[in-house]
Amino acid sequence: MIRKQDEGFDIIIIGGGIVGLSLAYYLAAKSDLRLALLEKDLLAQASTGLSVGGIRQQFSHPANIRLSQHSLHLLNILRYQLGNQESFLIHQVGYLFLVQSDNVWSTFLENVALQQNLQVPVEVLSPAQIKKQWPFLRTDDLAGGTFCSADGYTDPYQVAMVYARGCRQQKVVILEQTPVEKIEVEAQRVQAVITPQGRLSASLVINAAGAWAGEVAALAGIKLPITPLRRQVFVTHPFRLGQQPLPLIIDFENHFYFREEGLGYLLGLSDPAESPGFKSGIELSLLERLTEIATHRVPTLAQASIARGWSGLYAMTPDENPILGPLPEVEGFWVASGFSGHGFQHAPAVGDILSDLILYGETNFDLGPYRYQRFQNSTSSKGEERTV
Ligand SMILES: Cc1cc2nc3c(=O)[nH]c(=O)nc-3n(C[C@H](O)[C@H](O)[C@H](O)COP(=O)(O)OP(=O)(O)OC[C@H]3O[C@@H](n4cnc5c(N)ncnc54)[C@H](O)[C@@H]3O)c2cc1C
Repeated sequence: MIRKQDEGFDIIIIGGGIVGLSLAYYLAAKSDLRLALLEKDLLAQASTGLSVGGIRQQFSHPANIRLSQHSLHLLNILRYQLGNQESFLIHQVGYLFLVQSDNVWSTFLENVALQQNLQVPVEVLSPAQIKKQWPFLRTDDLAGGTFCSADGYTDPYQVAMVYARGCRQQKVVILEQTPVEKIEVEAQRVQAVITPQGRLSASLVINAAGAWAGEVAALAGIKLPITPLRRQVFVTHPFRLGQQPLPLIIDFENHFYFREEGLGYLLGLSDPAESPGFKSGIELSLLERLTEIATHRVPTLAQASIARGWSGLYAMTPDENPILGPLPEVEGFWVASGFSGHGFQHAPAVGDILSDLILYGETNFDLGPYRYQRFQNSTSSKGEERTV
């Protein structure tokens, strides 16, 4: 439970992306604590604003499925409570996964059983059924596909701005262009953060710095296994495959995905050869490979042309699941990062669940799979699939 401070703030959140904003919003909604959110640049301009906004329940880990379900529920509430119904749309057009090889297909079928057990409305489709529904897809090399109509996407920047509005209405102090440069720790307890604008004390500091979470943890003397990994996406000029709306389609083994974006398509290739680091920019060699894979799967895409592209950073952990909760080395220092490419969709649930844990000392969601200690105790762990 949080100890109230006489001066300064009760809780400081480092990072003004979707995770920090969601945490601040749910903490403020459930308490009268003095909350500050510090962002080194501007709100939601980093991974959040650069994200594809995909929300899926087709995960292979039950905890990730539950986080997605809870997030979808919270986003629907948020839209009505704060969004005036107009602010962001949730395009529930579905996610269609396409699988080629038999061994990957058998894993997908196991995942479908798990997902259906958790009430995810996912269907198994044969190549012929896929071809019938989406005739522009090449299906002769597929083992099958899975489709969940409740999956989809939304605009991540707009969602972040709705959370920011909710935070301001609830008197959260949001300081942009305020980088945390030092974290003061005394007797293994967090005391304050230091910014160019001065020292701000708090009894709880939460590291929601996304791909920078490792650097922020190092300011408190802690080594976190979170590394940045660049991801590139491209958008076509207006172009139609002749059918609307389309699901977000993932050619799983080729690491290629696409969805509608305005009057064209957003295309992504999650390059398995990308090396960790704070890289930015796009590479034409990747666009060439993407074009080859995309036109194999959707031959008519050869007629589309690329309008623009951008890159952003994933915050990767060794098992591709986030680290959530307190860090045992420094009392009062928590982390919510390492979402490994699915943090937009899990942020609403994580903000709600972690705020319960902080304020009431308990939550009815099992955070076991996301505890920091799993990396201290275990030698290996299974990776969650790294697609949008
Ligand atoms: C191309 C791409 C596509 C993606 N598609 C999807 C998708 O479809 N679905 C999905 O769920 N996820 C997706 N993601 C992942 C998703 O964007 C991230 O998991 C999510 O945005 C993480 O949010 P965050 O708040 O942790 O990080 P961020 O949005 O990066 O926010 C962290 C903030 O911390 C700030 N910060 C860092 N250091 C400091 C400091 N010292 N002091 C103060 N502030 C600091 C940064 O400036 C930044 O604004 C995608 C990511 C990319 C790059």
